[in-house]
Amino acid sequence: MELTISTLTPLWTGGVEPGKVDRIHETGILGSLRWWYEAIVRGLGGTACDPSKGECRFDAEKYQKSTATDERQRLRDAGLCDVCQLFGATGWRRRFRLEVVNDQTAPLWAGNQPLNIRPPGRNRGWFLPPGRMGTFTLRIHGDATSVKHLLALFRFVERWGSLGAKPQLGYGVIAIQNWDAVKNNLNDWSWRQAAQSFGNNSSAPNADLPDLRRFGFFRYRFQPPDKAWWSRIGGFERVVAQVRPFAARTVPVPPVLKNAWRFQHWQPSWEDEHTFWGRVATDRIRGKVAVSWAYPRTNGWEIRGSAWLSGVEPEPVWQLLSNAAIVNQTLGVTGGTMDTMRPQTTDQLLNVLENL
Ligand SMILES: [Zn+2]
Repeated sequence: MELTISTLTPLWTGGVEPGKVDRIHETGILGSLRWWYEAIVRGLGGTACDPSKGECRFDAEKYQKSTATDERQRLRDAGLCDVCQLFGATGWRRRFRLEVVNDQTAPLWAGNQPLNIRPPGRNRGWFLPPGRMGTFTLRIHGDATSVKHLLALFRFVERWGSLGAKPQLGYGVIAIQNWDAVKNNLNDWSWRQAAQSFGNNSSAPNADLPDLRRFGFFRYRFQPPDKAWWSRIGGFERVVAQVRPFAARTVPVPPVLKNAWRFQHWQPSWEDEHTFWGRVATDRIRGKVAVSWAYPRTNGWEIRGSAWLSGVEPEPVWQLLSNAAIVNQTLGVTGGTMDTMRPQTTDQLLNVLENL
């Protein structure tokens, strides 16, 4: 199976040298796929271990002794959660292989110098590395069922998620070019069926691990008044010359949006500001809000984002992030509109997934 993918915002997959992406690395793609799959599986009531603890390991003896009739339950009895069954764990091989072929991507700008955007009131601001833009093909090898899971997962990532690292800084928004050709492979497969095979844990979501029932997603669309719209954004004064060469393809708006949300609108009573936003400038503490760079689509421009509404007051925080007026004002545009998606139950999540 081959997926042809175009980047809408830069893709960051890490590399041999820190701070430099010399090509697209499969490992960076796999990490993000696994992360989204964990959040989906938990949201559907399946089991997903905490990857930082490495709890899952395949026990061949327990596998032999299991009296379960279906394979998934046998593998669970042998010590593998629903995610590790696909993505691998100690003693159990990943069920598929990803290979980047025909890589036509290039760095968004030359050299490794990051772009430094300082929104009004910030001293250091945010540092954005170049990332890669362009088109590439992913070849997926594996058994039919695993490939189907992967395809469905890629469709979710295309619609609402992101690929690769640094999603909080807006990297990794993609479009699948050949979806019409590959989607036929999913005709006899559905997330609903997959959810049934996950069984039903029906336990309350673990607040410490990503679960899509605690996420909100938004998609903001706007018509810029002219081609230079981005150059008038507060905080872009210093970077106009650097951004201009690629501004028709993508515009790095996450720093100014995060700055507005966090420093102009956040209320202390909404709880832990630092955990939610991560640390300014370094992104070393992974924040819980991802917002993309702006990119052109048919009939205008688009920005998308997601938030893991955990550890904060979810309602006011979600109202803040999904408020089109704040984005309009920050970007100096008018008439932008917001679409949102916020599944709060397994059933609502299934409805979203079945209609991607
Ligand atoms: Zn596991």
